[in-house]
Amino acid sequence: MSDRKPFVGGNWKMNTNRTTGSDLARGVTDGLITVDGVDAAVFPPFPYLLTVRAILRDRGSSVRLGAQDVYHQGEGAFTGEVSMNMLKDCGTQVVLVGHSERRHVIGEKDEFINKKLRGVLENGLEAILCVGETLDERTAGHQDIVTARQVRTGLADIPASLVERLIIAYEPVWAIGTGKTATPEDAQDAHAQIRALINRMYGKDTAQRLRIIYGGSLKPDIAADIFSQKDVDGGLVGGASLNAADFVGLCKAAAGAGRAKP
Ligand code: PEP
Repeated sequence: MSDRKPFVGGNWKMNTNRTTGSDLARGVTDGLITVDGVDAAVFPPFPYLLTVRAILRDRGSSVRLGAQDVYHQGEGAFTGEVSMNMLKDCGTQVVLVGHSERRHVIGEKDEFINKKLRGVLENGLEAILCVGETLDERTAGHQDIVTARQVRTGLADIPASLVERLIIAYEPVWAIGTGKTATPEDAQDAHAQIRALINRMYGKDTAQRLRIIYGGSLKPDIAADIFSQKDVDGGLVGGASLNAADFVGLCKAAAGAGRAKP
């Protein structure tokens, strides 16, 4: 069994409403009752955090409550933003930072992502830093340079003690929501590069403990091959996380892959 417990996150993005989100949360918690060997989290839209939290709590579920984004300031004149304190107040345990849709649709830059990541980790929450190259960057053979820049800049001025609460999600942009998945070999290669970089930045122990998860069109029937790669410690799931059975299937696949690792 791997020392790193697999992690699977369900990023609901800007989907669901109060009724369908509640049904989904109930389906996920019920489906995972007998599943162990995996840390699971759901990331509902902000307005439904408290509703989903109540469902997780009522059922005594170990599924973690996640937020899809955050603003790095504590409070103040930042119209439309949501602070760390607000997320904590709503029971959030883990926050996505630098998702590709924030980077490429909303226009967030590495330096801004670094401020958010520092804020999340300094405030005692867990963070998932999302990195990954676009299709053009991959075609040009720049995938390792791009992900290394995103990791280095994202983690600027963040000490090793805080990296203990970090997960990195390698999510090639061309695979997100497209139905195209990285091959297990390409995913392993990217994850190994990221772990080697963390080794250089923080040392061997931190690098060995860090969970690096894959995201990009994961489905239960293809996930096992990716999850079984040495440096792949689970997944971040968009589309398939909107179906409770699929999400539970992915969690089971990650747990099984974790148990089978030496
Ligand atoms: C994501 O949003 O992080 C993601 C991986 O989406 P999808 O699974 O739909 O590709």
